[in-house]
Amino acid sequence: MKLSLRGVGKSYSGRRGETNALSPLDMDVRAGEFISMVGPSGCGKSTLLHIVAGLEPPSAGTVDLDGERVRGPGAELGLMFQQQTLFPWLSVRENVRFPLTLAHRRSRVGAGDPDRQAAQVEGLLRLVGLWDFRDSYPAELSGGMQQRAALARALVGQPEVLLMDEPFGALDAQTREEMQELLLHLIQRHRITTLFVTHDVDEALLLSDRVVVFSERPGRVLATLDVTFARAARSSELKLDEAFLHQKRAILALLRGRPRTATQRDRLLLGLTNTRSEGGS
Ligand code: ADP
Repeated sequence: MKLSLRGVGKSYSGRRGETNALSPLDMDVRAGEFISMVGPSGCGKSTLLHIVAGLEPPSAGTVDLDGERVRGPGAELGLMFQQQTLFPWLSVRENVRFPLTLAHRRSRVGAGDPDRQAAQVEGLLRLVGLWDFRDSYPAELSGGMQQRAALARALVGQPEVLLMDEPFGALDAQTREEMQELLLHLIQRHRITTLFVTHDVDEALLLSDRVVVFSERPGRVLATLDVTFARAARSSELKLDEAFLHQKRAILALLRGRPRTATQRDRLLLGLTNTRSEGGS
């Protein structure tokens, strides 16, 4: 298993007492798998991502990456968040190269050898369509272009796992769709193990192998759905497909607290054989 979470839970203590953010959960992620997490605001999705990233210690439980305990942030993880996180004083190219220059990445692929680094950065900038803007600064880019640069930066260290927290949440609908298509293309090409937080059920179904549906805070897993649409068939067009809409309705019902019991037809049509619905209020 690439990533194994056992009993991972989180509560925060502050002036207003204890906030129970995330109920203890188990999750196993296979190498190359793309998992989306959907759920109401405040149910602990970002918290979970931060714990996996080693940015936040869990209150309970353990996270193992390739069998090794995650105890802090490391080069094995690529991060991408909703907010623009590029350094404004660095050009696009310098931003994308930045992770390779960090001391703790020196032992990673591409680090240390300037020619190799430059080639790697160029390859990624071309892949995300920003080569012509390599010397621009973040303020000179549109929101979509900034997120493409952030995506290139997240990938440049060749991470074992990519952690994405609503990376397209602040983009307009059309740019968001373009980013989804770009990510689909990247997934097909590189099969990077990815944990992806989104509010957008369409986006989750389009991109994922599995969708994990969370309850309200403190988040617990209501269901895990297998998404079985062929990777090659995935594009924005898929969102109009009957089976897609059916699966979307099932997820929305769970999110609204009205879980449907999957019928035999659902199971055949939607590949829900591994759905583990624990009910829901
Ligand atoms: P989501 O990503 O699902 O919207 P979050 O993981 O951001 O939810 O937050 C889950 C809960 O934990 C929320 O109630 C939030 O207010 C609380 N929380 C998140 N981070 C902190 C923190 N650093 N200190 C205290 N409470 C926090």
